[in-house]
Order: sequence, then C-alpha cells, then structure tokens
Amino acid sequence: MTHVVVIGGGITGLVAAREASEAGATVTLLEPGRLGGKVQTSAFDNGMLDEAADAFLARVPEGIELCEQLGLAGQLVAPAERRAHVFSHGALRRLPEAHLLGVPTDLDELAASGIVSAEGITAARRDLEEPLVAPTTDVTIGSLMRQRLGHEVAERLVDPLVGGINAGNSDALSLAATVPQLDAAARSGAASLIEACRAQQAAGPNRSDPVFFAPRDGMGALTAALVADLSRRGVTLNTSPARSIEPCGLGWRVQVEGGFLDADAVVVATPAPIAAAILRAGAARVATLLAAIPYASVAMVSIAVDREGIDRELNGSGFLVPQREGLTVTACSWTSAKWPHLGGDATVWLRASVGRDGAIPTGQLETQVLADLGHTMALRGRPREVRVSEWPASFPQYRVGHLARVEAIDAGLAATMPTVAVAGAALRGLGVPACIRQGRAAAQRVLAPLGTA
Ligand SMILES: Cc1cc2nc3c(=O)[nH]c(=O)nc-3n(C[C@H](O)[C@H](O)[C@H](O)COP(=O)(O)OP(=O)(O)OC[C@H]3O[C@@H](n4cnc5c(N)ncnc54)[C@H](O)[C@@H]3O)c2cc1C
Repeated sequence: MTHVVVIGGGITGLVAAREASEAGATVTLLEPGRLGGKVQTSAFDNGMLDEAADAFLARVPEGIELCEQLGLAGQLVAPAERRAHVFSHGALRRLPEAHLLGVPTDLDELAASGIVSAEGITAARRDLEEPLVAPTTDVTIGSLMRQRLGHEVAERLVDPLVGGINAGNSDALSLAATVPQLDAAARSGAASLIEACRAQQAAGPNRSDPVFFAPRDGMGALTAALVADLSRRGVTLNTSPARSIEPCGLGWRVQVEGGFLDADAVVVATPAPIAAAILRAGAARVATLLAAIPYASVAMVSIAVDREGIDRELNGSGFLVPQREGLTVTACSWTSAKWPHLGGDATVWLRASVGRDGAIPTGQLETQVLADLGHTMALRGRPREVRVSEWPASFPQYRVGHLARVEAIDAGLAATMPTVAVAGAALRGLGVPACIRQGRAAAQRVLAPLGTA
C-alpha cells in the first residue's frame, strides 16, 4: 500500500488526507495543534461562534461540493444581509451595490453614497475617458486603482474591501495573485477598468444569488465532518509535529518529535515558515522561497450585547473602515443581522476585526474596540460577553511576484522531491475554497508518479 503522510490538519491538510485516502492510499495526518487549523468554532453566549472564517465563497464550487460530499449541504445557510457599510468621513454609509471587489461600476450610485467626495468621483470618472492599458508586469492593487480611479476610491473602497479580506495593504499586495478577477479585468482589452468590471458582473452570477454560505452550526461543522470522515476511512491521526523530510529508499523519512514515519509521498500543508523548516534539508531553495512569504497578524473581538445597547438599526452585514479614518477596528460584522440564528431577539453579536500593516495593536484590545464601536455604530451597552481571538501570523501576504514564487516552489519540488507537495493558504489563495482546491490537487500531484491517483 502507498503510504501518504499529510503534515498539517487545517482545511488544506484535512482535504488532502481525504483525497489521498479516496485514491486508495494509507494515510497518516500529523496535527500537533487543533484539527481545523484556522477554522475554529467555539461556544459563546448562547450559541456557536466562528472565531475566524465564518463563511466560504459560493461563486466557486469547492466549498459547496465538499459540503455535499460530507452530507452537510442541507445545513448550509446564506447571510440574510448582504450589503455592508463603509465608515467614511466620520459616518456609516452604505457600500454601493454596484461594485466588483470595491471597483465601483455605477459612479452615480457611489456619488450618492457619500463615501468619496465630489473630487473623488471626478477622479474616478477619468477611468471612463482615458484608454485602459493592460499592465505588462505584476503590479500592486493600489498602483492600478490609484492610477485608474484616483486615490479616494483606492483608499475608501478598494483598500478597505480587498485589504480587509486579506488583512493587508492594497499598496503592497499583488494584483494578479490577490485579486485575479481584477487582474483579468485589467487585461481584458476593455476600454476602461469600470467597463471591464461591468462586463464581468454581467457575465457572472445574478446579483440576488448568495455570495457566501456557511454550515448553520458554524464553519467548525465542516472541519468536524472532515475529521469524522477521515476516521471512518481509517486515516491515522497523529499529534506529533513534523520536523523535517529526508530521502529514504524510494520514498521519504518524516522526522517527528520522538521518532520518524516512512512515507511514499508527503503533502506539507502548514503555514509557509514551518513548511520551509520542514523542507530545508531536502530542498533548500524551495525552503528559502517559502520562508520569504510575509504574514500579517489579526485579532477578532467578538461581543454579545443587549440589543437595546445599540442606538442604531443594524440594517446590513456590518461595516469596513478605511485606514484614513485612523481607528483600531478595520471592519465589524453585524453577526446577528448577517446570521439571524446567532444572538437572539434581545441579544446582538458583533465581530470586530483588528490588525493593520501586519501587526495587532498593543494594549487593551477590548477597550479600544469598544471605544471604536461606540464612535462608529453607537454601541452604548456593556457587553454581556467578549471573546478576543488572536491570530498571530495568520494571513499570508501575496506581494508582487508571488505567482512566480509559487511556480518556482512547485518546479523546485517537482525537480528534487516529485512525490512531495506544499499546499495551503500561503500559496494559491487563502480562502477556504482555494485551500480545498489546493489540498485535493496536492494529493493528486504526489500520488500521480506512484500510479495511485
Ligand atoms: C481571522 C480569520 C478570518 C478568516 N475568514 C475567512 C472567511 O470568512 N472565509 C474564508 O474563506 N477564509 C477565511 N479565512 C482564511 C482561511 O480560514 C485560512 O486561510 C485557511 O483556513 C487556512 O487553512 P490551511 O489549512 O492552509 O492552514 P491552517 O489552518 O493554518 O492549518 C495549518 C495547520 O498546520 C499545523 N502545523 C503547524 N506546524 C506543524 C508541524 N510542525 N507539523 C504538523 N502540523 C503543523 C497547524 O497546527 C495548523 O493546524 C480567515 C482567516 C483568519 C485567520
């Protein structure tokens, strides 16, 4: 029997283990921490709280398909509220409905929102007048947005949205690697970026289709179902951390704390710095490429508060905060409005995100967040319960050149360690569906030379 060792039990590693088992291999999964990795749901107030990811994209098939395979399809729910607000120029303002990842596709609607000034709208209109020249190299998101749509739209729409999703700064993130949709728009041959985004919207799903789904009991239900599936399949769960991989006969010796495992194929699905350390002995150049991927830290501050403690209607999914507003909070999800089964008639759940420029601010996060929520959304009541979930070095930052780096990593492994693969958030997409896709592909890739897949 072919033995596959999967290192890391986040969503990527769990899916890789399932795929390898499905292909007929004997599988050992190494996970020294919490199974599910960055997908964690825990008891909070009177329900179950997602401490990190709270949904997956519905526009791509991987999340939905996996839920179907695991018997979770009937439990999927979509957010009841889709429209966010932006805290801009000192007030919460509705994010226009017509936008693609923050690129406005109806400038009149944007003007009416008050998010950007009249000068900001004039600057954005120039995109419709000056022919779009496709970038010839990888560029930052910010550079294209500032050039086409002006600084205000770049800073008050695109950066809060795209920077928020990636816990990064759009002036430093690669357009091609971070937002392939916008990269494709820029290279589509359309006369302007706005027109290219309009064309994508017209060709894409209906505006009324759900954008996200999540299991009703939280994202942890997905990883719990995966773990249950792996145990049914006889996958061995081992809590030892992997240290290194060395060649051994025709396969590999995986050094773990206090011993080793022999494997025919290995999938490394840990964060990049750990993958680098594990691969250093066998593939030094690949390790150097992995080690240079930067990470940002974030914290989620979740709050349960009496409904009467908030002096405004929660008519949306939450709000984003542009960096220029100078607040600690980068975004706040109105969790009970988005997911009406969470909280209750008399209780509201909120989830505030914190962490900009790579680091979580120092000091009393809870106090800073409550002050920001008082200022932005008139939170007056004392919370019944607060949970601060810190996620140090959790968001890989795809800088300019990231895609070339990932290709070099794959090529380096194919040349030196063909039955070893790396996969996960650090490489080809950090959203849950992208991790599912990578876990599957990595298992198939390492098994192909062995004739098992
Ligand atoms: C706060 C937050 C909010 C997010 N929100 C969303 C969202 O709403 N929607 C969405 O789609 N995505 C979201 N994401 C992103 C997404 O959740 C992650 O990118 C994804 O879960 C990462 O999965 P992974 O398996 O690649 O890595 P991880 O989950 O990091 O798993 C890696 C695993 O490797 C293990 N490991 C470490 N060292 C070793 C070792 N030596 N040996 C063996 N194992 C080891 C770790 O313990 C860990 O469990 C969010 C992320 C965060 C942090």
